[in-house]
Amino acid sequence: MASTLFSGGTVVTSDASFAADLLVVDGRVAAIGSALSADADERVDCNGRLLVPGGVDVHTHLDAPMMGTTTSDDFESGTRAAACGGTTTIVDFALQVKGQRIPETLALYHEKAAGRAAVDYGFHIAVTDLYDGAIADLGGVVDDGVTSFKIFMAYRGMMMLDDGEMFEVMREAGRRGAQVCIHAENGDVIDRVAADLVAQDKTEPRYHAVSRPPSTEVEAVRRAIQISRIADAPIYFVHLSVAGSAEAVAAARAEDWPVSAETCTHYLTLGPELYDRPDFEGAKVVLTPPLREPEHREALWKSLRTGALGVVSSDHCPFCFRDQKELGRDDFRRIPNGGPGVEHRMPLMYGEGVRTGRLSVEQYVNLTATTPAKSFGLFPRKGALTVGSDADVVVLDPSGTTTISADTQVQRIDYTPWEGWTTPGRIERVYSRGRLVSRDGSFVGNAGHGRYLARSRL
Ligand SMILES: [Zn+2]
Repeated sequence: MASTLFSGGTVVTSDASFAADLLVVDGRVAAIGSALSADADERVDCNGRLLVPGGVDVHTHLDAPMMGTTTSDDFESGTRAAACGGTTTIVDFALQVKGQRIPETLALYHEKAAGRAAVDYGFHIAVTDLYDGAIADLGGVVDDGVTSFKIFMAYRGMMMLDDGEMFEVMREAGRRGAQVCIHAENGDVIDRVAADLVAQDKTEPRYHAVSRPPSTEVEAVRRAIQISRIADAPIYFVHLSVAGSAEAVAAARAEDWPVSAETCTHYLTLGPELYDRPDFEGAKVVLTPPLREPEHREALWKSLRTGALGVVSSDHCPFCFRDQKELGRDDFRRIPNGGPGVEHRMPLMYGEGVRTGRLSVEQYVNLTATTPAKSFGLFPRKGALTVGSDADVVVLDPSGTTTISADTQVQRIDYTPWEGWTTPGRIERVYSRGRLVSRDGSFVGNAGHGRYLARSRL
């Protein structure tokens, strides 16, 4: 039996921090207590360090075909970056392309990930084409441990479902013990505003944000909540970016409706002034929804504290500036929507959340690991440091710092929106099921270590 003793550190859970030793045996947490004197194979001195659960990032797009190109990280490079950034579980979006049957999509994503992933992974199924029999096929998907369906309320003709189709998917999710993840934006309004802008020769990246004003998100959030009431299904909003959306979710939750939501690292830390950078640099932050004004950022932080928003994910959807973002040089509508994030979510949330006083360290653990695991049928195996949990352990040095740069990052992309940022706190060591996968930001694990996670029903 392989065993590791983490001694002298501070264990942080979603509700408490305490000095304790942590013993790992055969990939699981075997004991937590004071002065454990186990005869472990390996001892890690954690004096002055925090021990937090490995991050759970429930929103990534690896090896995903989108907008005429494919995200630049595959399951090998993307999960390696996750490991180096303290994330030991991802739930990726298996994206159905038009004409593809849902079981085929899932089989394809299993093939993309198997033997390549460096950390554990699960899938959501993104439903974009309701062919005859699609609803019945969703049942089989749930049996395979894919207990969340994603739908898009934007991108008509590519990925969008109309309200009736959205209702059908929700109803089936409700019946099957699954939930529906929703990309909430009013796509039809956005498409018309965007066409008007392009007709006026307003084609630069900054008009991406102009074409998607806050109300396009808030309207869709409110509509989806009401439709979910009729369908009797639990829903989860991905990447909320606007104060009014968080308010709508809070109001639904106050009624005890099964509505939950996430925001993403970039909406908390970056602003729309980045769209005005010269030389097409604004394309680097063309992601959807767009970056918002400071009042929205403050409202999102506040919603994380009150619990209206329960999860911070990365929406890691990387496209290189060269050759990929450049597809939209003449028309912002053709810039692939997305940016990188899986590697820096955990350090940024610690530095910008905990060390600025916006979040407690327990809230940090809750938002980055515990609640995402609970929301997606992975708890307490993932997202927790408790006896019996997988030994996904991050050793964090609060006295260190993290500097973010495209030159040193592990993720496979030629830029980062946080270029040059230095934040307090440094992720020193990362363990996945007891196995060291990253040390001082370098990857020391191996492709194929990651296993598929069949997730529980709600
Ligand atoms: Zn996404």
